Amino acid sequence: MEEHLEITRLRQELEQANYEYYVLDNPSMSDYDFDQKLRRLEELEAAHPELITPDSPTQRVGGKVADGFHEVVHRVPLESLQDVFSVQELEEFDLRVRDALPGEVEYDVEPKVDGLSVALEYENGRFVRGATRGDGQVGEDVTENLRTIPSIPLHLPETLPSLIVRGEVFMPKKSFERLNQERELRGEPLFANPRNAAAGSMRQLDPRIAASRGLDILVFNIQWSEGKTFDTHAETLEYLERQRFKVIPHYTCRTIREASERIQALGEERETYRFDIDGAVVKVNSLSDRALLGSTAKFPRWAAAFKYPPEKKPAKVLDIVVQVGRTGVLTPKAVVEPVRLAGTTVTNATLHNQDYISEKDIRIGDTVLVQKAGEIIPEIVEVLLSHRPEGTVPYRFPEQCPVCGAAVARDDDGAHIRCTGAECPAQLLRHLVHFASRDAMDIEGLGPAVVESLVNAGMVTGPGDLYHLELEPVAALERMGKKSAKNLLSAVERSKENDLSRLLFAFGIRQVGQKAAKVLAVHFRTLDALMSASEEELTAIPDIGGITAKSLLDWLHSPQSQHLIRTLREAGVNLECREAPAGDRLAGKTFVLTGTLEGFTREEAKAKIESLGGKVSGSVSKKTAFVVAGEAAGSKLRKAQELGIPMLTEEEFVALVEGAE
Ligand SMILES: [Zn+2]
Repeated sequence: MEEHLEITRLRQELEQANYEYYVLDNPSMSDYDFDQKLRRLEELEAAHPELITPDSPTQRVGGKVADGFHEVVHRVPLESLQDVFSVQELEEFDLRVRDALPGEVEYDVEPKVDGLSVALEYENGRFVRGATRGDGQVGEDVTENLRTIPSIPLHLPETLPSLIVRGEVFMPKKSFERLNQERELRGEPLFANPRNAAAGSMRQLDPRIAASRGLDILVFNIQWSEGKTFDTHAETLEYLERQRFKVIPHYTCRTIREASERIQALGEERETYRFDIDGAVVKVNSLSDRALLGSTAKFPRWAAAFKYPPEKKPAKVLDIVVQVGRTGVLTPKAVVEPVRLAGTTVTNATLHNQDYISEKDIRIGDTVLVQKAGEIIPEIVEVLLSHRPEGTVPYRFPEQCPVCGAAVARDDDGAHIRCTGAECPAQLLRHLVHFASRDAMDIEGLGPAVVESLVNAGMVTGPGDLYHLELEPVAALERMGKKSAKNLLSAVERSKENDLSRLLFAFGIRQVGQKAAKVLAVHFRTLDALMSASEEELTAIPDIGGITAKSLLDWLHSPQSQHLIRTLREAGVNLECREAPAGDRLAGKTFVLTGTLEGFTREEAKAKIESLGGKVSGSVSKKTAFVVAGEAAGSKLRKAQELGIPMLTEEEFVALVEGAE
């Protein structure tokens, strides 16, 4: 079994190289040699599949895609820690600890990695399972993803029957920046911070994705061990180091004062770390003392997490720019002089909205304090007024959309300022999706995804373009095909016949909802008539108030809207109301009254019918629409029956005329 020996030797060499590279950061084997040996091992394993073991270096990326994550009940809960925010709170923690313990207390201080907590389980020295923290009691089985992290040993030099180790999976700052750059290029949403990126990577069903993310781990606790006992936490960490784990940097301190100084020093150094830290952990070193202290319902009493305040730095505001989001909301941001903050270079800061800028009186030219609090874009904490140069002026929010030049308007609830442009490129997607929606132009098959690909392909730059789409290019779009393209084009074609009320609603004019659109269409009959209406004419209509009238007129008279209407007219889209006017509800209908009505005289009934556009005749003929039959109706009723003309009781008649009002 010559090859069997070679396999064993190659695995040892590769594991050693891996360990030197990823854990010790001190490689002795060249990448070239590593690749050669790995390939040789793969060949041998391919020839002898029976010799493949799960802890072989070839098995780190199994390539098996999971269909979900199974729950794992943690043998020992992964507790969270009580937070302390000041030296004083740290001293109070120390007092509580020393009150409960007889002798001197030694502490261990470690940086708190901002990542994803996991438990790694080993049986007889082999990595068998890894799980996320979850709620501390129950987590998710992410073994295959964890196996791809090269700094996790797949087997240990010393083979205890059972060992469970806790650690923090993290994405190094460099990997994080690279990942977000790639995502930006591909138009994918960015991760807010390395912690989210690490967590997102761990939840990938395909381990190859996790493997590509450059994840790393630092272990910091033995949760459970069989066949070995320890006296102190520091001892456990030293043991883990000998087992080739990448162990958290840690410092043993004899007093809380020493611990406090160490925590401050870590805070000052934190930018130099490869990973984000969100604090430092202080733990009682003696494991028997820990047992004495125990836990509250929420936290262990023997540890605390010191949280550093977010890092702040001064930066000069070079400019304030306004961006228009896809929903038309205008968002201002400050362009600042580049400054290093929490491990990344910051060049802009969020300003949220006009109120935020006014409240803080942020001006171009100001020096401001910026801080990063878990988000990608840092925020401005305060303006350093003593640094304000002469001649600065308060910032004024633009009154026109910086993208299309249309007027901007504040939302009803005051929260956002939006562009009102009918064809604003920035909010094209939103406009199109609304235009095609069921209550608007009802273009089946034109949902957000299709709209997006049409826009991305440059085929549509406004609702008018929908009416010029051609079959071939649409069918060539991704996930489209000939059949869907055909259906889409006929749905577009059908929508040309829609009533004016649908089109008015589809325009997405602020304040003009479905009901107002209907009222306007029925009243004005044509879009042209509506376009020449005055404010007085509009507000004279019941249901149309001053705000609606103004918003409508602003919209109708903007050059963008007029361009849009012209395009639609040229495409043959119906611009007329096809519903009967309210006052003409009974137009063309002839009524014959017979017998005695209880609630009306003949004259009253006649007036009612005529006011709705109908006619009243004395004799029944084929042209009679309805015969209204009161008490003691005579020959006219028989004639109507012979001709098959519908008859109305007085109740039905009342319902008909009142329904028409
Ligand atoms: Zn705009």
